[in-house]
Amino acid sequence: AKRAGGAHYAFFEPHMSTNSQEQLSLQAELRMAVERGELVLHYQPKIDARRRGEVSGVEALLRWNHPVRGMVSPGVFIPLAERFGVIGLLGHWVIEEACRQIQEWRSAGLGRIRVAINLSVHQLHEEDLVERIDSALQRHGVEPAQLVCEITETVTMEDVTTTQRVFSRLAAIGVSIAIDDFGTGYSSLSYLRRLPARQLKIDRSFISDLEASGDARAVVDAVIRLAHALSLRVVAEGVETAGQRDILIGMGCDELQGYFFARPMPADQLFAWARGRPLL
Ligand code: C2E
Ligand code: CA
Ligand code: CA
Ligand code: CA
Repeated sequence: AKRAGGAHYAFFEPHMSTNSQEQLSLQAELRMAVERGELVLHYQPKIDARRRGEVSGVEALLRWNHPVRGMVSPGVFIPLAERFGVIGLLGHWVIEEACRQIQEWRSAGLGRIRVAINLSVHQLHEEDLVERIDSALQRHGVEPAQLVCEITETVTMEDVTTTQRVFSRLAAIGVSIAIDDFGTGYSSLSYLRRLPARQLKIDRSFISDLEASGDARAVVDAVIRLAHALSLRVVAEGVETAGQRDILIGMGCDELQGYFFARPMPADQLFAWARGRPLL
């Protein structure tokens, strides 16, 4: 893609070319996004399935408030950041910002809300990841149990040795771990048993098929039983209907997350939303 004139960059077009000059400018844009304060975290509540309505925590989801494009979805810029080696920078910012926000909410009287951040495969391989998280927790006076790290099932399977080492170290400092997008990879039972994860998040694709497909119901039911047998809490992501909610509650799912309850929202909105509700 070419510059579409003025300050407008058409670099998110699907047909974009990948010449090295453009890669450089993209990389620069993403780097500057951090420095210019264009990144923001939105927060989506996770609802406790049994005591209806209680907020068990929130997931922090990264947004890029681009001066020209407006809000850019992470589905677009995270893959770019990974490709251009900027993902580390974004990841550091997310850790710092999530801890700062937890502390700010606490001073504002929200209580000890649990916040989950998403970790990329790149971060799993950073030597100082655990030290960085530990240091951010301490600097902001956040209890480690308030932070959850979500890592996708496929990423955990890419490098089993690294995953086990990093997970153990995170667990050792008191941070909990959630296996994200579960069901899209093919982890074995024995593998899951060896990971010190606390939560398993069932991928949205299974949830959206729940009402129409007996197969999807059978898979989700089996995953919930398996997870419970391994003492994992189960979170269903992408819950959009009352029907899905009822099926999941019937199956004993522990936490529910999705547009049916709330969309991801800016921190101040989340504060207003959560203030009227009991925290778990
Ligand atoms: P994810 O971790 O699986 O996050 C869930 C995605 O589903 C989010 O999309 C969320 O807004 C969306 N969602 C939640 N409820 C519903 C629902 O009921 N229906 C539908 N259709 N969608 C729902 P989002 O915010 O666009 O994020 C997309 C992906 O980008 C995330 O998937 C995650 O993999 C990645 N991501 C987001 N923030 C970060 C971050 O800080 N770091 C890293 N490494 N990745 C991030
Ligand atoms: Ca996630
Ligand atoms: Ca997910
Ligand atoms: Ca997903």
